[in-house]
Amino acid sequence: MQILMGEAPWDLECERKAYTYMLKKGVRMGENDWMITDDVEGRTLKECLEYVREQMVRKWQERWDSSEKGRVTYGYIKNVKFVSENKWFSFGLNAGLLLIGHGSMNGWLYDRGLNDSARCRCGAEREDWLHVLTECDRYEDLRDLERMGIRLNADGSVNVEGVMNEREYKYFRDFSEAAFGRRRMENVV
Ligand SMILES: [Zn+2]
Repeated sequence: MQILMGEAPWDLECERKAYTYMLKKGVRMGENDWMITDDVEGRTLKECLEYVREQMVRKWQERWDSSEKGRVTYGYIKNVKFVSENKWFSFGLNAGLLLIGHGSMNGWLYDRGLNDSARCRCGAEREDWLHVLTECDRYEDLRDLERMGIRLNADGSVNVEGVMNEREYKYFRDFSEAAFGRRRMENVV
């Protein structure tokens, strides 16, 4: 979620602020610090603060690459700076369901004991974000995978990295609005 909001984890942000404070106060740093004193020599305060920010992003990126959480989102967005560097990006509830893979779909509800079955209304065994996005017959007429930047690999896996371009993402959002809008209508009937 933080990746989609473009916000660094709070603990890293706290550390960055602490270093910013120390640099401004001229506090000497130890070897275990992000920035050892030698690195400070000859640099302006502005350069030091920039360096600390880069170090924070590097740590954040390492954490994102090795995390076990948020792997649906990781399929779309590898670079932690993506959201801050792409101002066109935003998401609402429906696109969020496909970007995060949580919520409302039967597979997710079933895993948490909130639904009797993981089955989709189309008959497929499991309704999850990938099923809705790439397979489900109920949204066949709304779906254009190529336009959304989605590639199906030869081994059956799906590559969604191409969604994160301005034009492709627009189609992706339109699809998410139309598909989940239809899903809600059908589920109340
Ligand atoms: Zn289905």
